[in-house]
Amino acid sequence: MQFEFSEEDVSFRKSARRWLLENVPTETPPHSGIEAREFALAWLRKRHAGGWSGISWPAEFGGRGLSFERQIIWHEEYVRSGAPTPLDSTFVALNHAGPTVMECGTEEQKTFHLPRILSGNSIWCQGFSEPGAGSDLAGIRTSGRIDGEDLVVNGQKIWTSFADIADYQELLIRTDPGSQRHKGLSWVICDMTLPGITVRPIKNLAGATHFAEVFYDNVRIPLSNVVGALHDGWNVAMTTLGFERRTAAITLQLMMEQKIESLATLFLSRGGDAACSSIGRDIAIARAEAAALRALTYRTLFKDPATAFDGSIVRLFFAELSQRIYGIAMEVLGPRNAEAEQDQEWVYSYLEAFSETIAGGTAEIQRNIIGERILGLPRGGAR
Ligand SMILES: Cc1cc2nc3c(=O)[nH]c(=O)nc-3n(C[C@H](O)[C@H](O)[C@H](O)COP(=O)(O)OP(=O)(O)OC[C@H]3O[C@@H](n4cnc5c(N)ncnc54)[C@H](O)[C@@H]3O)c2cc1C
Repeated sequence: MQFEFSEEDVSFRKSARRWLLENVPTETPPHSGIEAREFALAWLRKRHAGGWSGISWPAEFGGRGLSFERQIIWHEEYVRSGAPTPLDSTFVALNHAGPTVMECGTEEQKTFHLPRILSGNSIWCQGFSEPGAGSDLAGIRTSGRIDGEDLVVNGQKIWTSFADIADYQELLIRTDPGSQRHKGLSWVICDMTLPGITVRPIKNLAGATHFAEVFYDNVRIPLSNVVGALHDGWNVAMTTLGFERRTAAITLQLMMEQKIESLATLFLSRGGDAACSSIGRDIAIARAEAAALRALTYRTLFKDPATAFDGSIVRLFFAELSQRIYGIAMEVLGPRNAEAEQDQEWVYSYLEAFSETIAGGTAEIQRNIIGERILGLPRGGAR
C-alpha cells in the first residue's frame, strides 16, 4: 500500500525529523522498575512539550488533531531516528487504554485522563488476564459487588505488565453476580494506589520484572469509573483488544525492518557470506517479510473497524517474524559469542521474543480468530 503525501506532509516530515535528531535520548532505556517509569515519562513529557505527543488525538484532549497519514509519518521518522522502543510503560495508556476511554468513556473520564496520558503524567496497566482466564477471557472471576456508589472488588489478576509502576489500570471484572461468560462484565478504571491492592512482581525468562500478579481485597472503586455501560464490559474490552491488536504496535513493526538491517550488518561483520549461506537467505526472506508486514499494517489501519479482526493477522505475523529474527541472531552469534558483553541486547531480545506469541492473545488464539472470523470456518475456541 502506498500513501500520497502532500507538500504539507513533506514539510511535517522534515520538522519531525529535525526535532527527533535534536531530542532523541542517547542513553539505553532501563528494562524495568521505577527507573523505567521515570525514563519513559521524561521522554513522553519531552515529546509533549515539543508538540509531538498525540499527533492524531483530538486537540481538546491535548493532541494535535492531525491525520492518520501524519501519525504514520511521525512513526516512520521516530523509527528512523533510533528513538527508544515505544513498548515501554507508557504503551498501554497511549495505545489502548487512552483510545478506549476516548471511544467509550464519559466526558468527565476523557477530560481527566486523556490530557494526563499525553503529557506524560500517568502510567496505565491492563488487568484482563487471571489464573484460569487468559485465552478464555470470558472466564473472568474477579468480582465487583455494587455497594452504594462503589464497586467492591475482590480477586486476582496475573501477567499485568507495569502493574508495579502504574497509576491506573484498565480492569475487567464481573459486576453482575449471577452472570456467565461474556455477560455481566464491566471495564473499570482502577486507581492503583487504592487501599486493598497488592502487587507482586514476576521475573521473566530474560531476567526483567515488567509484569506482576495483582490482588484485590475489598477495593472500593467508584461506579463513576466504569467505562461504557455497567455490565457491558465485554464490548468495551473488545474495543481495547481491537486497538491492541490492530494499531498499537505500528512503531514496533516498523522497528523490525531496522532490526533486520542491524542483523545483516552483524552477520557481515562476523564474516557471514550473504550470497551463499542459509543465514544470508533467511535474513533476505525476513527483510521481504518485514516489508510485507508494513504493507499489511498500513492496509489494516485504514480499514473499517468492522473488519478489525485483521489485526490478528498482523499480530501473529509480527510475533512469529520477530521470534525468527532473534533466532537468526543467535545463529549468527553462535553459543560462545552470545556471552560477550556487546551482544547482550541481542540475547535479551531473543529471550523476550518468546513472549511475543503469548502476550495480547496467543498464536493459537489468533489463528482461531483468523479461521473463524475472517475465513468463516466453524467456531470452536474462546476469546
Ligand atoms: C509478556 C507478557 C505480557 C502480558 N501482559 C499482560 C497484561 O499487561 N495484561 C493482561 O491482562 N495480560 C497480560 N498478559 C497475559 C496474556 O494475555 C496471556 O498470557 C495470554 O492471553 C494467554 O493466556 P494464559 O497465559 O492464561 O494461557 P492459556 O490460556 O492457559 O493457554 C495455554 C496454552 O493453551 C492454548 N490454548 C488455550 N485455549 C486455546 C484454544 N481455544 N484453542 C487453541 N489453543 C488454546 C494457548 O494458545 C496456550 O498455548 C501478558 C503475557 C505476556 C507473556
